[in-house]
Amino acid sequence: MSVTAATTEPSWPVRHTNSEALFQRASKVIPGGVVGQGRSALPYPLYMTRARGAEIEDVDGNRYIDFHCGFGSIILGHNDHRLRETMIETLDRHGVNFSTANPLEGEFAERLTAAIPSAERVVFGCTGSEMTYHALRLARAATGRRKIVKFEGHYHGWHNEVAWSVHFDPDRAGPATDPRPLPETAGIGGSGTDVMICGYNDPDRLQRIFAEHGGEIAAIIMEPIFHNGGVITPAPGFLECCRALCDRHGAVLIFDEVITGFRHAIGGAQQIFAVTPDLTTLGKAIANGMPIAVLAGKSELMEQLSPLGDTFFSGTFAGQIFNVAVASRNVEILSDEPPYDHLFALGSALREGLDAAIRESGIEARVEQYGSVWSLYFTAKPVSTYRDIARFTADKNDPTQRAYQRFLLTRGIYVHPHYMIRGYLTAAHTVEHVHALVDASREFFAHKVKGQGL
Ligand code: PMP
Repeated sequence: MSVTAATTEPSWPVRHTNSEALFQRASKVIPGGVVGQGRSALPYPLYMTRARGAEIEDVDGNRYIDFHCGFGSIILGHNDHRLRETMIETLDRHGVNFSTANPLEGEFAERLTAAIPSAERVVFGCTGSEMTYHALRLARAATGRRKIVKFEGHYHGWHNEVAWSVHFDPDRAGPATDPRPLPETAGIGGSGTDVMICGYNDPDRLQRIFAEHGGEIAAIIMEPIFHNGGVITPAPGFLECCRALCDRHGAVLIFDEVITGFRHAIGGAQQIFAVTPDLTTLGKAIANGMPIAVLAGKSELMEQLSPLGDTFFSGTFAGQIFNVAVASRNVEILSDEPPYDHLFALGSALREGLDAAIRESGIEARVEQYGSVWSLYFTAKPVSTYRDIARFTADKNDPTQRAYQRFLLTRGIYVHPHYMIRGYLTAAHTVEHVHALVDASREFFAHKVKGQGL
């Protein structure tokens, strides 16, 4: 098989020879030339080499306004000077990793318990996947039950417990009133019998699941705002319904706030919607790009983790001093100088601009935005569940989405070629960056409506 994957796929509409050479080289030693599904692109990825503020540069010297922002892990802007100072200071004063208790973790934990409504106790790891794994194991240990409820399209990481019904063709998943779990991956084992699948914003199905299996359900795990489907907010009362069912049936409510946490408010979606889960997972924006993640929750649950309890928790890098220092400073900045008004105002300007451009052009598209996350769907129909958006999220190579992303590159804008058009803003983005996106999109919509090849 050719290593380039480039067949009929046109090459990038920007200078790309260095990216191509790096891909050729990497493909000999890295499967598919990229470290995982999230990095892949046809005919090969653009290799990014440097980022500052809201801008990112590839190895061919092309500069872009970055709307990818490290899959939402960047919140202050790339390479924030205050965090750089913390990094250097931490190296000078401490080092990188001891895998022992360290003097910074208690202070960081205090900041988190002050910020997040559900956080009476916290532990640290490195990735969101790790934390959702521990959250589910803890919920199972605490309830003595096996089953979990998961929503179609919600992504909670790569592990076997949650890699069900994420990107899939609804025709294979049965009716929305009674969906079956579909594995996201080969090698997962089992038939998903422990995973009860429900549509997001479908309280009727959720109630039926609990009516039939309430006594077997350990937890609901959910993205409080469905960001892995772009931007789909909870219908009024839906989060409350999840909370009430868990309370009534003795199940654990887990909010996976890996995207929403620190992005929309210092206390996450749970603060905004005033629904407090039992356990919360956090990652991404918590440290502006450093790999650290958190499991937070009520003391009675969290104290069942080892060493106090018998639910094993450990890790070489758990509480690694360098990451903790940066995350703690990041949370301090987000608390003391909250960027949220700026992020929400920019997000609204972006939505209004794209909305106007869509209306003027007559293209079938809609923009959805919440705070600093936005999504463009090439449909005029409303979106409230995975099934409404499946045709965009199940196919990384949808031609219209790819044409849009490619066109934006020619206008100096980077939207990651992932499953769907989803972008993020940071505190370093300005209204000029937003206008550039709106102007380029307007141009694209006009070409598209006229049927011009792009
Ligand atoms: N939960 C959510 C909501 C996520 O979006 C992601 C990553 N996109 C994860 C968990 C997994 O996090 P990680 O990639 O750090 O393992």
